[in-house]
Amino acid sequence: MIDSILVLNAGSSSIKFSVEAPAGPGSVRMLAVGQIEGIGTHVHFVAKDADGTVLAETRWEDGSGPTDHDAALHVISEWLDGFLGDARVLAVGHRVVHGGPDFSGPVVITPGVRAKLRELVPLAPLHQPHNLAPIDAVEARYPGVLQVACFDTSFHRGHDFAAEAFAIPLKYFDQGIRRYGFHGLSYEYVARRLTEVAPDVASGRIVVAHLGNGASMCAIRGGRSVESTMGFTALDGLAMGTRSGQIDPGVLLHLIGTAGMTVPEVTRLLYHESGLKGLSGISPDMRDLERSEDPRAARAIDYFVHAIRRQLGALAASIGGLDALVFTAGIGENSAMVRRRVCEGMEWLGISLDADANEGNAQVISTADSAARVLVVRTSEETMIGLHVLEALEQAVA
Ligand code: ADP
Repeated sequence: MIDSILVLNAGSSSIKFSVEAPAGPGSVRMLAVGQIEGIGTHVHFVAKDADGTVLAETRWEDGSGPTDHDAALHVISEWLDGFLGDARVLAVGHRVVHGGPDFSGPVVITPGVRAKLRELVPLAPLHQPHNLAPIDAVEARYPGVLQVACFDTSFHRGHDFAAEAFAIPLKYFDQGIRRYGFHGLSYEYVARRLTEVAPDVASGRIVVAHLGNGASMCAIRGGRSVESTMGFTALDGLAMGTRSGQIDPGVLLHLIGTAGMTVPEVTRLLYHESGLKGLSGISPDMRDLERSEDPRAARAIDYFVHAIRRQLGALAASIGGLDALVFTAGIGENSAMVRRRVCEGMEWLGISLDADANEGNAQVISTADSAARVLVVRTSEETMIGLHVLEALEQAVA
C-alpha cells in the first residue's frame, strides 16, 4: 500500500472514514471508505474499497463493542494498520462542522487551535464536540502526526454583510449570531469539479443544490460562495429529511411561550421530527416517498420541491442571473423526478431540461440550447478534506 491520508468524520454515535492516497500535485485517490456506527449500542464496523467491495466487517450485537470514540478509533486504526501494511498514515483530516467567524479555510491543529475550536462548541453543540472527539485519540495512536481541521462553514466566509447578518440589533452580529452557511466542503468540491467538467461556466453564476438528508443551496460567483440557504445553524433554508428548514420564528415563540413546549422538545421537533418525515408521517427518505401511493408523501415532495424552486429564484437574484444549476448529494444525484420538478417552468431563468439525459442521470441534463447549463455532479466531502490535508502536507515540507 501507499502512504495515505486518513479522513475522519465523527458524529454522535458514528465515525465515517476514508483513506486517500496522494496521486500527484493537487490530487488524491480514494483507496478505502468505511464507518463504525452505533457506538455504545449495536456497533457495526465496515470498510470497503473504492469499488464498494467489502474489505472488512464486524458486528457487536451483545454490547461488547466500542463504547466511545477512543475505542471506535482503535478499531479503525487496527484495521488501517493491516490495510496499509508497511505504508504510513501521513496525516489525518477531520471534518469539523463549525469554524466560527474566523476560520476561512482549513487549519493545522495545534493546542491553540484546539482550544479555539472548543470555544466554538456553543455555536454547534450537537455536532462540534463529536467532531473534535477523535483528535486526542489520533494523537495517542499516531504521535506527532499532522492533523488538519476542515470546516463546513469556511467556504462561506467573506459573504457581504447583508447576506451574513440577521436584522436584529448589531451587538448580536458582533457576538457571532450570523448566517454561517454549511455544506461548504461539498460546495467547494463541486466548484472545483466544475472547473474540470464545465470550465466555460465554472467561474460564472452558479447555484448548487446539495440535496441529501441534510439539504441546502449555495450561490457561487467567480468560484466563491456569495449566499447560502443555511444560516446560524443547519436548520434554515430547505426542508430536509427530518429538519424543518425555514420557519417563521414566531412559530417557535408560540410553541414555547403559549403551547408550553420546552427548548429540548422544540429542538427535537425541528431537528428530528420535521421536514419530509414530519410532513409525510411516513419517512425521511426520498426513495420511500417516491415509492409511496400515500397523498401525504406527494405533498411532502411538493413542499420539498417548492422550497428549492423559491430558493433558486432568490439565489439567482443575488448573483444577477444563472449560468449553471448543479444538483448534488443523494437526492440531487439520483432523483430524476426531483430534478425534473425543480426545473419545470424555469425557462424564465434560462433553464431547458433534456428529459432523456435527466432520466439517465447524465452529467449534463440541459438541452444544447439551454441558456443555463444544468448538471449533476457527484460530491465528495472526503476527497475535499483529503485535498486540503495534501495541501497542508505540502506546505509543511516547503
Ligand atoms: P447524507 O446527507 O446523509 O449524506 P445522502 O447525500 O446520502 O445523505 O442523501 C440521502 C438521500 O438521498 C435520502 O433521502 C435518499 O432517499 C436519497 N436517495 C438516494 N438514492 C436515491 C434514489 N435513487 N432516488 C431518490 N432518492 C435517493
